Amino acid sequence: MANLVESQRLFQTALSLMPGGVNSPVRGWGAVGLTPPPLLVRGAGARVYDVDGNSYLDFIGSWGPLILGHAAPEVVAAVQETAARGLGFGASTPGEVDLAKLLVEAVPSLEMVRLVTSGTEACMSALRLARGASGRPRLIKFDGCYHGHADSFLVSAGSGVLTQGIPGSPGVPREIAALTLSLPYNDLKAVKEAVRRHPGEIAAVIVEPVAGNMGVVLPQPGFLEGLRQLCHQEDIILIFDEVITGFRVAWGGAQALYGVTPDLTCLGKIIGGGLPVGAYGGRRDLMSQMAPAGPIYQAGTLSGNPVAVAAGLATLKALQKPGTYEQLEEKGAWLAQELARAAARQHLDLTVNRLGSLLTPFFTRGPVHDLEDARRADLQKFRQFFQGMLAAGIYLPPSQFEAWFISLAHEPQDLEAAAAAARQVWSKR
Ligand SMILES: *Cc1c(COP(=O)(O)O)cnc(C)c1O
Repeated sequence: MANLVESQRLFQTALSLMPGGVNSPVRGWGAVGLTPPPLLVRGAGARVYDVDGNSYLDFIGSWGPLILGHAAPEVVAAVQETAARGLGFGASTPGEVDLAKLLVEAVPSLEMVRLVTSGTEACMSALRLARGASGRPRLIKFDGCYHGHADSFLVSAGSGVLTQGIPGSPGVPREIAALTLSLPYNDLKAVKEAVRRHPGEIAAVIVEPVAGNMGVVLPQPGFLEGLRQLCHQEDIILIFDEVITGFRVAWGGAQALYGVTPDLTCLGKIIGGGLPVGAYGGRRDLMSQMAPAGPIYQAGTLSGNPVAVAAGLATLKALQKPGTYEQLEEKGAWLAQELARAAARQHLDLTVNRLGSLLTPFFTRGPVHDLEDARRADLQKFRQFFQGMLAAGIYLPPSQFEAWFISLAHEPQDLEAAAAAARQVWSKR
């Protein structure tokens, strides 16, 4: 195991200063039986470096934003140049107009958009809009999907809530939680049944069009199309949470890839290029109801911050170059295939779910189509795998229920190194 003396020292201090020593629960390494997590001081391309001088091949990529890799020169340059002209004004800027225009052109459902500062804020605001516009109270979501930490979404949520095994929704009033119906992913019948049981009461259905927060789970053929049709029939607002998938699985997101257009879309992560940007948008008649154009309120001191917007724009412009998504697909396909092969050779039950550069190897025979399937994964095996990979210098999401993120900066030899490490770990079982 790497020398983590300085990380250990700092994390001890962190534990006394911050809950669990971290500023976001997914950064804790409790689920993989390791403390401290290495404290990182630098990133370059596909690698990160910790305070003790160890380096790792990174498959987290800041949990999705860094699709170009760490410290991509064009993004850093845009940030430096913009920052030197002022860090923010709390007033409109040309960059916001550029980013809004690019988003509206790229994402099929967006006729108008509002920039915010996180994915949480995007989802929370989209839900408020759906409730305000429809006059209805209830929300349908899916087990294992994560839409940020606003009250209404912390019901059978994914990501850190799932990894930490947090029961129910402490801190969320029962009355609020009761308005959220959480149903199995990929189960269209359950959605129809819920809609039938609550006629005229469902404001919105929110879904990750490709789930990434219980590990990667793909929509089964007909699931997204079925949601679209049902929502249309029942006057329910369909929200795609594309905070991960937006500009990750395709230019324009999963909705462009699958050809299913929601009423509202939430974005985040990649569109901020590593700095805090979120966005929600969609049908003009809905978005026009947001203040100050309309009566539904949502605001933000740092919304559309010029430095963050510059990072997002530089990232999207780099992604717009020809061949980027083909490269991401190739990298993802190669790694997924090598992992599956290596596991098969050792007669290890492994199901690799993947779309483009997003993947999760689940330690189960599979298939994995929903949270119940994902929960069948052998977490002890995952923990051993994680520890073995870390010892080989591969930095993975410290949870079975998270996606791996491959970036354009991952070279073939990096992917080979990850595959070789996995072979090594599994051969020693
Ligand atoms: C990360 C994520 C969010 C929340 O975004 P934050 O910027 O962490 O608030 C919402 N939805 C999905 C699908 C996410 O992956």
